[in-house]
Amino acid sequence: MTTTLPDASGATLTVDLGAIRENYRALRRRLGRTICAGVVKADAYGLGADRVAPVLAAEGCRHFFVAHLEEGVALRPHVPEAAEVFVLHGPMPGCEETALAHNLIPVLNSLEQVEGWTALARRRGRALPAVLQLDTGMSRMGLSPAELDRIAAEPQRLDGIELRLVMSHLACAERQDHPANGTQRLRFDVARRRLPQAPAALANSSGVFLGPDYHYDLARPGAALYGLAPVAGAPNPLRPVVRLQARVVQIRDIEAGDGVGYGLTFRADGPRRIATVAAGYADGLPRSLSNAGIAHLGDTALPIVGAVSMDSLGIDISALPEGALRPGAMVELIGPHRSVDDVAADAGTIGYEILTRLGRRYRREYRDALPAGPLPNTLVLEGVPS
Ligand SMILES: *Cc1c(COP(=O)(O)O)cnc(C)c1O
Repeated sequence: MTTTLPDASGATLTVDLGAIRENYRALRRRLGRTICAGVVKADAYGLGADRVAPVLAAEGCRHFFVAHLEEGVALRPHVPEAAEVFVLHGPMPGCEETALAHNLIPVLNSLEQVEGWTALARRRGRALPAVLQLDTGMSRMGLSPAELDRIAAEPQRLDGIELRLVMSHLACAERQDHPANGTQRLRFDVARRRLPQAPAALANSSGVFLGPDYHYDLARPGAALYGLAPVAGAPNPLRPVVRLQARVVQIRDIEAGDGVGYGLTFRADGPRRIATVAAGYADGLPRSLSNAGIAHLGDTALPIVGAVSMDSLGIDISALPEGALRPGAMVELIGPHRSVDDVAADAGTIGYEILTRLGRRYRREYRDALPAGPLPNTLVLEGVPS
């Protein structure tokens, strides 16, 4: 039995899986012989790891990265049995058994994590796969230089580890002329020579665009898969993946001196027509878009006026002919006219933050824009907002 509900959602988020597939292909072309993994942490940057990972797997991706153990457990059913799922944070003390039981490979970031994993290997009487992360300058995660010294001096500390990968992470990769890139690469090379031979990985999305010197054996792009610009100040070579459209709830005319929204932070300097749109900071649109962001109807820019509320925001639609926009109609908040990176710039943040905060209230549409088979545009509706 099917019940047809009218589409009463306030906003629709469209995720173009075909664009993700194209972006994965573009990264692979750029990487040549280097393996292209897929970073699907934070629910594939908010887009749905259960939907994104199978698309990458169908393209041949067999290496997936998540941040937390729980993310790995949740991801497992959505990737092939033979795929390797790496957990960037490594196992928290006492969680090693869980990682092994779910066929997850930890990234070991400290001597303590190395000891936890080798202890499990001893208990099981066999070598267990793991990745070693080295801190080459970001001071975030990975073995410190002092910890590396201890391992180099006592290599038996790694007994019981089947070393799948030695990795590090770049702090400034999106800025191609930043001296830290070369420094980190050099430190990575020096450190690797002190460890048992293993494949190496350094590059995130932006690292891929630093060129072949940074590619090593495996690259770990996330953001680029989801269409974010990998190189600061350069045109984005990737395809946009998300589109966000929100509905107009109400339209009103205001006069000079009238205020809009909490705190009345916008005051009309003359007659204005204001539309209230059904998306706010609870939907992941930062409050810093207040009096700063831009919506669109067609090619017409409609500035956000007043403070972004929890569930709504105001836009100035005076530039539109009367009647062009009515309650129930959609305006574009992210899309062809305003990319995720543009919205991030308006909000004073980065595209990563905009993507990963995209709300749970949206009606989600997953679109496969690739002309695969007889259905060029397969639309799958996901859930009804609660
Ligand atoms: C998040 C993350 C990535 C992916 O970074 P992008 O900039 O999104 O490509 C790669 N490696 C590590 C260690 C990460 O934490």
